[in-house]
Amino acid sequence: MRLINRPVLCNYYVTYRCNASCSFCDIWEKPSPYIQLEDVVKNLKSLRKMGVRVVDFTGGEPLLHPELHLFLAEAKSLGFITTVTTNCLLYPKRAHQLAGLVDMLHFSLDSVDESLHNQSRKVECFSFVQRSIDLARSLGEKPDILFTVTDANIWEIQEAYERFHCQKGLILILNPIFAYQSVGNDLGKNNLQELRKWTKKPGVYLNSAFLDLRLAGGNHVSNPVCRAGSSTIVISPDNKLVLPCYHLGLDSFPIQGELESLWKSEKVQELVALEGRHPGCEGCTINCYMEPSMAVELNKNWWMSLGSTVRYSLEKWVYS
Ligand code: SF4
Ligand code: SF4
Repeated sequence: MRLINRPVLCNYYVTYRCNASCSFCDIWEKPSPYIQLEDVVKNLKSLRKMGVRVVDFTGGEPLLHPELHLFLAEAKSLGFITTVTTNCLLYPKRAHQLAGLVDMLHFSLDSVDESLHNQSRKVECFSFVQRSIDLARSLGEKPDILFTVTDANIWEIQEAYERFHCQKGLILILNPIFAYQSVGNDLGKNNLQELRKWTKKPGVYLNSAFLDLRLAGGNHVSNPVCRAGSSTIVISPDNKLVLPCYHLGLDSFPIQGELESLWKSEKVQELVALEGRHPGCEGCTINCYMEPSMAVELNKNWWMSLGSTVRYSLEKWVYS
């Protein structure tokens, strides 16, 4: 049963540019403009009217945008929950500007080993993560560690847990790697099973419904779990509405200050109705869309996701 008949999340791509070039991501290869403040102000007002609650200013590397703090301040003033994920290269420079504006601040980490992490990101950024944690904490921020789990680094989770949760009090978000279009590799089945033991561990966020979906082969076009089109608004750096999701990106429409009416238009709603049913959707495991998909429909996934979300919120409060 559909519980929420409106989009709940906006993935707002501030630029596709990035100062890293991770092996499991191809976004940094795309030429890209930067979003404009004037468009952001208009779009945020529309998003509010459409009922969206959470805005994820993403990229690329979102901190590359010199006006990120202005977008966040505008979003906060309109009552949105804000989220930003960064590779930390620019965080020490921007931390004071961003302080108090990001509700869910995620620092990306792929290894507890400096050289392996830098190798994965193809840039020397491990030390920036360490510095960013201390700086963020000193500013009263509550960053999380976003650990992308691969077949190569799964054995490092325990150490990451001890180092970042037990010693520093941060929540460890486990993000099983996913493949899309021919980019990256999926996590092996045995390792997905292995991750189960982390789903109830204090200080760890890993949605067990999402893990079940992965073990069942991801989204199936015959009976899709994906509600990307109807639960998530995707805005590109050139101010277009992208459908049904960034990764499939089948179509895009210029917003021109009319996000709400564009969203309700027949041409957009036709694409929304096909969410999770496109040929490229078979086997999809893109968690950026599965999490919001599981939040809008009342079923087993919703209950399981609720448990993970409530636990995350409580722990965030306890460890802050
Ligand atoms: S830091 Fe993020 S956006 Fe940049 S290349 Fe890596 S995964 Fe992609
Ligand atoms: S199933 Fe995957 S590829 Fe298809 S619309 Fe959903 S998120 Fe995009």
